[in-house]
Amino acid sequence: MKPGVVFGDDYAKLVQNCKDKGYALPAVNVVGTNSINAVMEAAAKNNSDIIIQFSNSGAQFYAGKGLKDGFGAKVLGAVSAARHVQLLAEHYGICVVLHTDHANRGLVPWVEALVEESRKNIAREGVPLYSSHMLDLSEEPIDDNLETCARVLKNMTPLGMSLEIELGVTGGEEDGVGADVGDDFENPSLYTQPDDVLKAYDLLTPLGHFSVAASFGNVHGVYKPGNVKLRPEILAASQALVVADRATDTNPLNFVFHGGSGSEKAKITEALGYGVFKMNIDTDTQFAFSEAVGAYVNDHQDAFKWQVHPETGQPYKKQYDPRVWLRACEEALITRLDEAFVDLGSRGHSMADK
Ligand SMILES: [Zn+2]
Repeated sequence: MKPGVVFGDDYAKLVQNCKDKGYALPAVNVVGTNSINAVMEAAAKNNSDIIIQFSNSGAQFYAGKGLKDGFGAKVLGAVSAARHVQLLAEHYGICVVLHTDHANRGLVPWVEALVEESRKNIAREGVPLYSSHMLDLSEEPIDDNLETCARVLKNMTPLGMSLEIELGVTGGEEDGVGADVGDDFENPSLYTQPDDVLKAYDLLTPLGHFSVAASFGNVHGVYKPGNVKLRPEILAASQALVVADRATDTNPLNFVFHGGSGSEKAKITEALGYGVFKMNIDTDTQFAFSEAVGAYVNDHQDAFKWQVHPETGQPYKKQYDPRVWLRACEEALITRLDEAFVDLGSRGHSMADK
């Protein structure tokens, strides 16, 4: 495939290739050009394709916290960021999936505004802005959840876009969306029910391409070891039900693994065998980025107090130049992603033409 952002049939081909070969792509939440460029650099370095995603507040941050119209900034930031990625991605020589993360009921208008922006972009540039969007209505009754997903997917399909839905509540909270699991890790409502998945499959398959964020004990954020019990067999049960009842090939569903940060490697590997093509990583990459600036400041403390040392006269410009410490953050993010490409088996599998 041509390097750059993928849409429509190319996106579907990429998802299928992941499942056929048993690997998944890291989906990294980004907030600005530093994290975006580092993610693309990491993908190129590992010859892997990559998913770049924005939360609603990540998109708002991209537009600038100073913009007064918060909703407008969430839309503008997502548009601006998509254009940035579209302009640069092909030059990194890999395929990039552009995606937006959790949108609950209050954020459906955000997603719909972005779909309209994609429609305008097709008129201008011939391609939509995003490969896919996510709706997370998992806290609502299943029929309400699916009815809205069906309506939005119907609008997206003619534009060559895919929809990620959520069935079962992923624990933890991300950017104000999600549920607080507290100590309730044994609660069955936190696990995706195969009957719900079959319902979604029947309703959405005729309407377009979609994926399912499933809950199998995964939580957002990083918790004390032992608190999170991943049960990938829940994914296998849903796949098996659809295969048996609808006579499909193996792994008909496209699964997304949320809350991948801090997960046991063996459970990740098991989940990959059950049709997981995407694993979200946010907490771990945030920490990698921030840890690097912490270390840098610690090692160059004087450069963050004075432009020139008051006694020795030593100038510190080369040390406090934001490009130097931001580059250290980018490099740390890349190092953390090196690990993710190996864990998810995507290293060396880029589908981009060389
Ligand atoms: Zn999530």
